[in-house]
Amino acid sequence: MPATGGAMLSSIHDDVAVESLRKRLALDPHRVRRLRNRLCKLQGSDEEALSELPTAARKAFADEILLHELTLDQRFDSQVDGASKLLFRTSDDLLLESVILRVATGRTALCISSQIGCAANCDFCATGKMGIARSLSAPQILDQVVQANQMLKPEGRKVRNIVFMGMGEPFHNVAAVNETLSKLVSPLGFDQSPRRTLVSTVGLPAAMVEFARKFPGVNLALSLHSAIQSRREEIIPLAAKYDLTELRAALQQVAEISQQSIMIEYLMLRGVNDGPQDRAALAEYLRGLPVHINLIPYNRVEAAPHLEGTAKEEREAFGAALRAEGFTVTIRYSLGADVDAACGQLVRRENRRIAAAAAQ
Ligand code: SF4
Repeated sequence: MPATGGAMLSSIHDDVAVESLRKRLALDPHRVRRLRNRLCKLQGSDEEALSELPTAARKAFADEILLHELTLDQRFDSQVDGASKLLFRTSDDLLLESVILRVATGRTALCISSQIGCAANCDFCATGKMGIARSLSAPQILDQVVQANQMLKPEGRKVRNIVFMGMGEPFHNVAAVNETLSKLVSPLGFDQSPRRTLVSTVGLPAAMVEFARKFPGVNLALSLHSAIQSRREEIIPLAAKYDLTELRAALQQVAEISQQSIMIEYLMLRGVNDGPQDRAALAEYLRGLPVHINLIPYNRVEAAPHLEGTAKEEREAFGAALRAEGFTVTIRYSLGADVDAACGQLVRRENRRIAAAAAQ
């Protein structure tokens, strides 16, 4: 079982604290490295990880170092498509979500959160409607990966792709996200392939370029949702701060630095961004950029009853027209509709349930 609580404890992902304790306990550095490997790379249980230490040192180590920053509060397994929604609780009682996606190819992806709530306030998003509670620390982001992998081990699965598409705007939490990415892709950390790691943003131009410079191998996705400024601002209020011209210049720079294509996320909202004018603006905006357009079906959320998804046939026609113009387009199949897999929905529901129970 994950160790929890203990506000004074340090994280296993805190290199300085772990090294200082290692010295104090006169532990062989190889032992500590093997413990971390077990936990971060080999999906070992906590007991298996601690068993890498000499018996005499295990208790002292466990008394000062937290292997987990989060407690699994609830788990919801989809009955239709293999998605599992994980609801985690922080030590100060805030809820966050991660989603395991068991893709039809047999691969496994994990969608992780970088914040609790989000200040971007996107019109279609349950998390945005919560406002921002706070940013997560790097150990809290990393623990979502550790715990998902521990859960997947008995199934013979391992997280292959990691996407920062859960709660929060990653570039509103740059320091922790950078620390997380460094540890994820480091051979001494999680040894995760950068190519199988993706950070999704609503589009903060300077941060996108900075990210590409720091992690040129890690994929970037831009939630564009409209190439018409006024319409984009209706969907993503934060877009008012960063106009599309500035954003396009950043996309160009990111592509030059990373030398790989950028994922353009386009949520298809009926009557909002799915008309011929929207498609023409999108094609015009992206022409000449190395992009891969991902058209996303919209799952209705309680928080936005005024929005509806575009019908399947129209989504396909929109995609076909873009392909005819030479773009690479995929139409994402939406996993986990029956477990509220769109970000923030479950946390909102749980918070309401807890508030209602407390009020009784
Ligand atoms: S879609 Fe992403 S960026 Fe927009 S409010 Fe939701 S969590 Fe924040």
